[in-house]
Amino acid sequence: MNISSSGQKIGRAFGPRVRLVLFFVVTWLGFALLLAFLLNEGRREAEQKAPSDALGVTSLLEARLVATMRRLQGNLEHIAASLPQDAFKPAALGRYRDTVVNELGYLSKQFPELGGFGVLDASGHFLYASGVVQHAPASADHVFFNVPGAQSGGGLNFSGAIFDNQSGRTFVFAFQSVRDAQGDLLGVVVAQLDLDVLAKALEAINVGPKGAVAVWRADDGRRLLQVPAIPGQVDQVNAAHPLQRLIESGEKNGSVRVPGALDGVERVYAFQRLADYPFYVSGGVAVDDYLAEWHQTRWIAAVSALLLFLFLSLVLIRLLRAENEEEVIARKLSQSEARYRMLAENSHDVIWTLDIPSRRYTYVSPSITDMCGYSPEEIVGQSIDARLTSESASRLAREIDQRLRRIAAGDKSASVVVSELEQVCKDGEVVSTEVVSSYLQDADGVAHTILGITRNVSERKAAELALRETNRQLHARIEEIGRLQVALQELAVRDSLTGLYNRRYLDETLEREVSRARREGNPLSLVMLDIDYFKRVNDTYGHQVGDEALRMLAKTLLSDVRTEDVACRYGGEEFLILLPNMPLETAIQRAEAWREAIEGLSVVLGNFHITFTISLGVAAYPEHGKTPDDLTRCADQALYRAKHEGRNQVSVFTD
Ligand code: GH3
Ligand code: MG
Ligand code: MG
Repeated sequence: MNISSSGQKIGRAFGPRVRLVLFFVVTWLGFALLLAFLLNEGRREAEQKAPSDALGVTSLLEARLVATMRRLQGNLEHIAASLPQDAFKPAALGRYRDTVVNELGYLSKQFPELGGFGVLDASGHFLYASGVVQHAPASADHVFFNVPGAQSGGGLNFSGAIFDNQSGRTFVFAFQSVRDAQGDLLGVVVAQLDLDVLAKALEAINVGPKGAVAVWRADDGRRLLQVPAIPGQVDQVNAAHPLQRLIESGEKNGSVRVPGALDGVERVYAFQRLADYPFYVSGGVAVDDYLAEWHQTRWIAAVSALLLFLFLSLVLIRLLRAENEEEVIARKLSQSEARYRMLAENSHDVIWTLDIPSRRYTYVSPSITDMCGYSPEEIVGQSIDARLTSESASRLAREIDQRLRRIAAGDKSASVVVSELEQVCKDGEVVSTEVVSSYLQDADGVAHTILGITRNVSERKAAELALRETNRQLHARIEEIGRLQVALQELAVRDSLTGLYNRRYLDETLEREVSRARREGNPLSLVMLDIDYFKRVNDTYGHQVGDEALRMLAKTLLSDVRTEDVACRYGGEEFLILLPNMPLETAIQRAEAWREAIEGLSVVLGNFHITFTISLGVAAYPEHGKTPDDLTRCADQALYRAKHEGRNQVSVFTD
């Protein structure tokens, strides 16, 4: 297994959230570690620099102190050299006092640390003095003459620190013996150093707010001066102080870190022995001072780390929330996609998408196989034209162009269309389909894709066709029935032998026509006729000849009546002709015409020519009767009279 594959395995082992949290934790830890490292480096540098800073302070202090000592020594040497030997004799005091005191006063004003100068005789009595020297303790001899080597050597000597109650100040005396040519002690010249003023001068040396400088005696290790002052520590030996031990061990210089033993302030001290004077100087820089900047940086770093932690936490929370939301959305999306895919893939209809510019399918649902025999893979990428009959393809092409133009013109109703297209299957069979096309538009309203749902409507089409055919047949039947009904109705009102209307029809028509004549005030006539001696015809020539005679009579009448006239067979060989709108006179003429026509008629039967005559009775509305029954009876009576009066004639009803 190589490194990258194991990395991938680890990546897979942790979820994206854990990886995100890890990333932020590692980022923050890295930043925190970097800060810690930089802080540590800063502290180390500050710690390393502290001894050299302390040494710098010490060097300044040494230079300052040595300069003071040199001037002091120079002044004392000058006083010693300038005093004549007899000036040390009490007898000559009066002579020299003013001169010497003036000189001492002048010199003591040269620098502020000096409290004054004095001259003592060999017995330790003050001969001359200026400034505060006169406040020297009474036991001056003890101070100036008990110093080891003070009387023998000619160098500069120093007393211990002396607190003057009267002035409230602390002094130290520097003094030098004065001897004559034989080496006998003539006296001592003394300078009073004001330690408080010296301390003030040393305060100018920058050791930081909590730093300290001190001056130590080299001979016995007593502390002569300390800035800042610690009450009770002046002129004291602190054997426990590490610096004290170093000085006692004779070290000329060095540095040491001292815990805050005396004033509670921990410092790094440097110390140095003065070259020509019996003093050590030490300068201490406080740990708090030289680390102050570092402490500030540490706070800033801590706050930065905390702020970064808070910021990263906020970012992390937002990212986790966003990821959570994304997950929810992705899950919903995938559920919804699965749902739609399930719908698309289990639908009996074929669902598809088409890229409009290329007219090629970009998706086709699996039900295409059931519909056309193709697999979706065979269809996707294919042109839609190739899957349609040429008529459907050109119709669709026109439709797409038209729809695109309408959509471009902002016609919203143009985006969905239902059309019927003929699809060509894999086996060449043509399937009728109903296609619902939705033109999907982008944000600019341009349609690039058609979402289509295709349904096989072949069966429905066949059913529709069958239904249409059945419907057509049904209509034909209905028409036939109608015709038959009309024929039946005709048959019902017609006499089968002669084709004239039957008596039932006449009854209805007469009723109606009489009402109308009455309503409209028009005349109406009735002609009733009967074949003369018809019995004989039957008896002589047979019943069939009689029938033929009846048919001939009917034919003759029909050929000579108006459309509105109603000729009917009233009984066996009796006929009645209803003549609406016809007055009596005209009716008589019509009756006479028919009589003549029949008289001239001959029925041919083989070699026989048979003739017959008719008798006719005429009645009219309103002259003879006003009801159908009256009119019929009147016509019948007129006929009866015609028979009675000889037959083959027309008779008009008379009362
Ligand atoms: P008249 O001059 O008095 O009328 O003498 P007629 O012989 O005609 O007397 P009638 O009216 O009484 O006779 C009717 C005859 O008509 C009787 C019948 O044989 C004949 N007849 C009635 N209906 C038919 C028919 O449908 N066909 C044939 N062939 N004869 C019929
Ligand atoms: Mg008759
Ligand atoms: Mg008759």
